[in-house]
Amino acid sequence: MDSADLLALDARHVWHPYAPMPAKVPSLLVTEASGVRLTLADGRELVDGMSSWWSAVHGYRHPVLDAALAAQAGRMSHVMFGGLTHEPAITLAKTLVDLTPEGLEHVFLCDSGSVSVEVAVKMCLQYQRSRGKTGKHKLLTWRGGYHGDTFTPMSVCDPDGGMHSLWRGVLPEQVFVPAPPSGFDTPPDPSYVDMLAAEIERHRGELAAVIVEPVVQGAGGMRFHHPGYLRALRDLTLAHDVLLVFDEIATGFGRTGAFFAAEHAGVTPDVLCVGKALTGGYLSMAAALCTPEVAAGIARGELPVLAHGPTFMGNPLASAVANASLGLLADGSWRTDVSRLEKGLLDGLAPARDLAAVADVRVLGGIGVLQLDHPVDMAVATEVATGHGAWLRPFRDLVYAMPPYVSSDDDLAVITRAMLAVAEKA
Ligand code: PMP
Repeated sequence: MDSADLLALDARHVWHPYAPMPAKVPSLLVTEASGVRLTLADGRELVDGMSSWWSAVHGYRHPVLDAALAAQAGRMSHVMFGGLTHEPAITLAKTLVDLTPEGLEHVFLCDSGSVSVEVAVKMCLQYQRSRGKTGKHKLLTWRGGYHGDTFTPMSVCDPDGGMHSLWRGVLPEQVFVPAPPSGFDTPPDPSYVDMLAAEIERHRGELAAVIVEPVVQGAGGMRFHHPGYLRALRDLTLAHDVLLVFDEIATGFGRTGAFFAAEHAGVTPDVLCVGKALTGGYLSMAAALCTPEVAAGIARGELPVLAHGPTFMGNPLASAVANASLGLLADGSWRTDVSRLEKGLLDGLAPARDLAAVADVRVLGGIGVLQLDHPVDMAVATEVATGHGAWLRPFRDLVYAMPPYVSSDDDLAVITRAMLAVAEKA
């Protein structure tokens, strides 16, 4: 089948994320991905600025990850996880416990970030219920957040400007407070912390947990905040008998310049969600980790088990690739790589400050963002970015990149030049 036939079938039958059916804007047909480059069916090569939505941190077709996947496929692709276990998943769980902030001991492996948020919330609600606190079933979260597309995560996404406002009235009702003032380097505003304290105290009787994306609010607006707000949340949740969940599905594994964003604050949450870069972007896997207190609380309850069991839980192929990916990160070279990304993004995006359409330029670790004063035209943005040899996927008024850690200075120059061009023209 030639490319035109494939694309016609794609437009007619294949539902893409956040897209109408049938499709209005054709997709680009990718035939190969290697290193940081995507090859299109028409022969064009694009430098990937997106790491396939934060996940492909080592780039594509990494020989170590390819080998780990092939070796595991030669042994066992999948077995059910109820009553059975295996070395790849055990090693992965132990490695995650070692790498995540001190105090998280138990690992629930699942198959997507959204499901890990579902599981995290279930852990919190069940923990409270086990203690007889059935009234504590709500979540408090920041406006402007994003936690996934299934119903519980949607209920804690930005309720106004966000993508899931259509479902207001249908989703579980949660407690929203304003997001912290922007700026990773802007010290915490005491009046904001007072407001947080008052809201958590006011709702303490109905709050199971506070859930936030630490340091970077991703798909809800690509905003950064000072880690001090996370320390405040930790103190307040402890003081008011509320659990704390960090969603590090996007920020985990080095992207913000710390291995986990929680480390910027020196804080351990009660429950931590990870995903995306866990398998270096190879396979769908995520996890929710919790403290012994949370697990023990659930075990003491009327229903002493966590009633959750995805078919593909602990998938050996995904576990083996995750182990290989974490192995690549273990030597700490990601630190140098992410610093190089930060410098490349800062240097490359500096001229954006002079562009009339750019309202804000922000860079943290391997994340670069141009906030425009108008919404981007996606079709024009794709044409402009690909014309500059880069793959970008702007949304709303945000032109942003989170390149693979292995991107060279030249790759970063391609990406940032494309971002500037999109900001000027789309
Ligand atoms: N939480 C955050 C912070 C995310 O960025 C995402 C993915 N965009 C999710 C949850 C949901 O993950 P998934 O797409 O794997 O379900």
